[in-house]
Amino acid sequence: MSVLEIRDLAVSVAGNQILNGVTLTIRSGEVHAVMGPNGAGKSTLSAAIMGKPGYQVTAGTVTLDGADVLAMRTWQRAVAGLHLVMQYPTEVPGVMLQEVLSEALAARGATKKPLDDLIEAEAERIHFDRELVRRAVNVDFSGGEKKRNETLQMAVLQPKIAILDELDSGLDIDALRDCTKRVEDATKETNLGVLVITHYSKLFDELKPDFVHILAKGKIVKSGGPELADVLERDGYAAFA
Ligand code: ADP
Ligand code: MG
Repeated sequence: MSVLEIRDLAVSVAGNQILNGVTLTIRSGEVHAVMGPNGAGKSTLSAAIMGKPGYQVTAGTVTLDGADVLAMRTWQRAVAGLHLVMQYPTEVPGVMLQEVLSEALAARGATKKPLDDLIEAEAERIHFDRELVRRAVNVDFSGGEKKRNETLQMAVLQPKIAILDELDSGLDIDALRDCTKRVEDATKETNLGVLVITHYSKLFDELKPDFVHILAKGKIVKSGGPELADVLERDGYAAFA
């Protein structure tokens, strides 16, 4: 059982205060959806949790099972069990997926053998073209292929908590279903805790949120159950922002 605890987190970027005290607790097996208008600070939240350079935490704490996440380097956060699927996955020329995963697993002291078979099985599970597994990470991939690739990495690495920043952006319906289903399965099979950022409740067809939070102007302005997403879909953000 793991807990990611975000308390009163305030973050500034390029001298602008973007987050003004965000508090969220995510436990193993739980799915928390964060929804909010463009520019609310959703990606800033994910960047601050993972320690992206340029995102300055000005107040608050982030802990994973009591350990101070903010004191860790980004790779240490990953090794500790945090995993971010970025809104716009990075292309990494010259680096193969197999190499990334074998290094990442080695850093965790968890050499899973044979890795090739595991990658193959995971690729099949999310209908990811196995030929793409042998290409440089994300290079010239379509939007859907990139997100499938990132989802595959998550599945192999088995983090404690995954942060999915607009997993649905740039995805077609089939890719969205495959990726969200794999994440939902992980919440049951490996007790993955999830923080999923999205605008659209379509994502919840497969990945069922236990909690929905509305982030506006750098603060969580309302939290509720899945029904809150339906209210948003109907009324928009205006009532909350
Ligand atoms: P969201 O993901 O909710 O759409 P973001 O977290 O990406 O919002 O952005 C929140 C605000 O922070 C925006 O006004 C954006 O312009 C600003 N911002 C985010 N990252 C940077 C950056 N690296 N440099 C300058 N401003 C940034
Ligand atoms: Mg964003």
